[in-house]
Amino acid sequence: MSKAEDRFKKIIAHCKEYGFIFPSSEIYDGLSAVYDYGQNGAELKNNIKDYWWKSMVQYHENIVGLDAAIFMHPTVWKASGHVDAFNDPLIDNKDSKKRYRADVLIEDHIAKLEEKITKEVSKAAKRFGDSFDEKMFRQTNPRVQANMEKIRAINERFVPAMENGQLDDLKALILELEIACPVSGSRNWTDVRQFNLMFSSQMGSASDGASLVYLRPETAQGIFVNYLNVQKTGRKKLPFGIAQIGKAFRNEIVARQFIFRMREFEQMEMQFFVRPGQEKEWYEYWKEERMRWHLALGIPREMFRIHEHDKLAHYANMAVDIEFDFPFGFKEIEGIHSRTDFDLGAHQKFSGKKLQYFDPETNESYVPYVVETSIGLDRTFLAIVSHAYTEEKLEDGSERVVMNIPPALAPVKIAVLPLLKKDGLPEKGREIFDKLKYDFHCQYEDKDAIGRRYRRQDAIGTPYCITIDHESLENNTVTIRERDSMQQERIPVDQIASIVSKRIDLRPA
Ligand code: ATP
Repeated sequence: MSKAEDRFKKIIAHCKEYGFIFPSSEIYDGLSAVYDYGQNGAELKNNIKDYWWKSMVQYHENIVGLDAAIFMHPTVWKASGHVDAFNDPLIDNKDSKKRYRADVLIEDHIAKLEEKITKEVSKAAKRFGDSFDEKMFRQTNPRVQANMEKIRAINERFVPAMENGQLDDLKALILELEIACPVSGSRNWTDVRQFNLMFSSQMGSASDGASLVYLRPETAQGIFVNYLNVQKTGRKKLPFGIAQIGKAFRNEIVARQFIFRMREFEQMEMQFFVRPGQEKEWYEYWKEERMRWHLALGIPREMFRIHEHDKLAHYANMAVDIEFDFPFGFKEIEGIHSRTDFDLGAHQKFSGKKLQYFDPETNESYVPYVVETSIGLDRTFLAIVSHAYTEEKLEDGSERVVMNIPPALAPVKIAVLPLLKKDGLPEKGREIFDKLKYDFHCQYEDKDAIGRRYRRQDAIGTPYCITIDHESLENNTVTIRERDSMQQERIPVDQIASIVSKRIDLRPA
């Protein structure tokens, strides 16, 4: 097992042991690619939602929220293109009987070539030191050039094959690139088939003519069909946005990697409606703004990567992924898409209802263009916990596992810990807890030695532990211990709230 795989396993085990994430219906051996969030996971997830909602809806005057239903009229999914085009190409290996996404097999192959290039570049950077000219090196090094040429040649066939659904071409590419099944090692592949990712169900009883409904595969369509309702009742002028957080469902072909790819997950999406012709400017704006949001959490810039799309979804004219360095490599965490008037135009056509906006500045009516930001809540959760998980060796030779979760998002903000379970310390602790609990999510704990209680709080990422001792009874002071530095300081009880508030504030400076 590689170091990264080992670390990923430990993170998954930690998430379970400390009440962040449990497999769904675990007593029945779980349900594939479905997970439940435990007592600490639910808090962290809510805090991420809250941070996103505030920075989108509250801090932007021209963005409002929405909470649309999961079920929608089935024609919505015809108009959006999901009935016809929300497919993944699947392929089976005849020997291992394992199923793969054909496009992912090819993308992984490209990623390996890219990795070779990156290695070559960093080797040369080390060799040449300060005088290294990366651009020049990439243009002239024969090995880098050869790999770049290979990638170009693959994309030249891969992109049109995906765009036009040419499944035979995808298979031919897999064979020519000699891609082998990671499990069986063989190249004994079936043909590639299209597989629609939407879950469907029946609404109403069969006797009164039940109709087919889908579980929404994205939250965005709930925004599109409500755009005029919001615009009119909210008296919104372009440009304005509608934000929504909600469940989405996809019958993913390959659902591995823990909560990275689930069949039921949550999205935080915002559709920004603009005048046609202004989409490029807003697309650039949202790309930057969303990166800023990620970085405000204190995760280093090098953990993120921007990936411009070569192959565009059926609705987009510009698209970029923000990728995060997960324990299994760089993968998409958020997409920013310029969706043109594709969706509103299609809904106008399929519903027969006008979805135009009258622009008082130009005296024209038109269907707005849309720039979308779409982030997976669960993937953000995974990014945060996988970055936070830290094993530390302490000076006294002992070890601790600490979750360096950004304090603002930590499930518990303050642990109130009387040093002893006697001499009036618990009563004093309760008094402090009861005051703080209205402003912060706190935990009161008086069992076990103080060291063990600190470790338990470190393991769930609690930024502050407050300890009550005999001196507290004399002069109304406590010690406050900071999670990351483990530094302790004695402070008056009435300063606890202001110290913690300052540290967990995520407002832009
Ligand atoms: P991928 O290429 O990884 O399948 P996608 O490009 O289909 O993702 P989008 O349709 O752009 O994803 O969805 C927007 C966001 O929703 C993604 O950036 C991701 O964070 C999240 N997301 C999509 N599918 C899943 C899933 N199966 N499980 C968890 N999150 C998901």
